[in-house]
Amino acid sequence: MGRVTKCFLWSFFVFVVAIAATAEARAQGSNNAQTSSAPVASQAAPAFDVNAAVKAYLAKMPQAERARSNAYFEGGYWLQLWDFLSTVVVMWLLLHFRVSMRMRDFAERITRFRPLQTATYWVQFIIVLTVATFPLTIYEGYIREHKYGLSNQSFGQWMRDQAVMLAVGIVLGAILIVPLFGLVRRIGKNWWVWGAVTTLVFIAFFALIAPVYIAPLFNKYTKLEDPRIKDPILSMARANGIPATDVYEFDASRQSNRVSANVSGFAGTLRISLNDNLLKRCTLPEIETTMGHEMGHYVLNHIYKGLVMNGVVIVIGFAFMSRGINLALSRWGKSWGIRDIGDVAVLPLAVLVLSIYFFVTTPINNTITRTMEFEADMYGLNAARQPDAEANVDLLLGEYRKMDPGPIEEFVFFDHPSGRTRITAAMRWKAEHPETASPEELNRPMFPTP
Ligand SMILES: [Zn+2]
Repeated sequence: MGRVTKCFLWSFFVFVVAIAATAEARAQGSNNAQTSSAPVASQAAPAFDVNAAVKAYLAKMPQAERARSNAYFEGGYWLQLWDFLSTVVVMWLLLHFRVSMRMRDFAERITRFRPLQTATYWVQFIIVLTVATFPLTIYEGYIREHKYGLSNQSFGQWMRDQAVMLAVGIVLGAILIVPLFGLVRRIGKNWWVWGAVTTLVFIAFFALIAPVYIAPLFNKYTKLEDPRIKDPILSMARANGIPATDVYEFDASRQSNRVSANVSGFAGTLRISLNDNLLKRCTLPEIETTMGHEMGHYVLNHIYKGLVMNGVVIVIGFAFMSRGINLALSRWGKSWGIRDIGDVAVLPLAVLVLSIYFFVTTPINNTITRTMEFEADMYGLNAARQPDAEANVDLLLGEYRKMDPGPIEEFVFFDHPSGRTRITAAMRWKAEHPETASPEELNRPMFPTP
């Protein structure tokens, strides 16, 4: 018990330190950008002042817009804490009031077939969890997004997406949980090793099917036809050794105005998709630099590397979960009505322990992705050779991601580099390639004047 409590306190501590660091970074204000990138500027060609160029780009974002974006993103830090705490509380209630035990008994009354018992328990579990955390989900996914002007959905449309997500969760969760419990019952003590392996195989399976079977449940994907955009993108793909013949477009405007693109899938389903907001709101150089970034993910094998790195995190997480469950069961197992680790009623405890683990390792998981994102940025700059367009796209992403955080804040909370980091990299690149400067991009206003 002591260990679990310590972990919990530790995660709380990490959060408080990170949020304190945020406040400090804000107090330092824009001085931060100057001091951190000063040495870079002095190394660059004297004709081009990287620092001044970064400042000029950051200044394209109006004060009010930046304040709104900061408030939105910083609010997200707290939401991570509330999400975590609400999960912990709900799981504890399920255990303490023996709801989990009753859900198991119900599943056992319905069928004698064990895999089906596990699946029946899972359906009850995910529905109870969804209902219990629904007020927070509505605030987070609907009310708050509208408050910051980031959502295009009516409540009905949003609810429809939630229902689809629940259905997907029921099916995919059962596909993972049923073999996982089968394994625990068969293997016993060292279940966590094979449990982690099974989970990784499941994640790879999910990554494989998601672009073809899951993503289209939420958005319409079509092949990008416009030759003015498609041709330069495919030319860049060929130049970078990517055997793509198609680029996909999806109607992200169904949900919001956010610009984004992604590389998704695995092996045979790997594809590059860009959203319609990007197409509507950006110039061709901006689209090209974004695609250069996405091609970087592809060429640098980020999906596979991510799987390996997350694999390490997951194996350690399962070891942690195994110890946590054993400790808690030896103490409270009887009063919760849980027989042993192979009893599916243990699930809330497993979720609770794993939530603590992933909450505490947030900075590690963010750093894994952020590092790969920065690599893709470098790749995109070299592939598209559009540093000014890159800086403009970074500004657009600043609509929902804080532009200028402190270094600790970026380390803890950012799964992508901040706008300032990205623009600094673009301007550093531009300093070494002055011939690529684009006055049109530099002077293009990025935010509608209110
Ligand atoms: Zn990326």
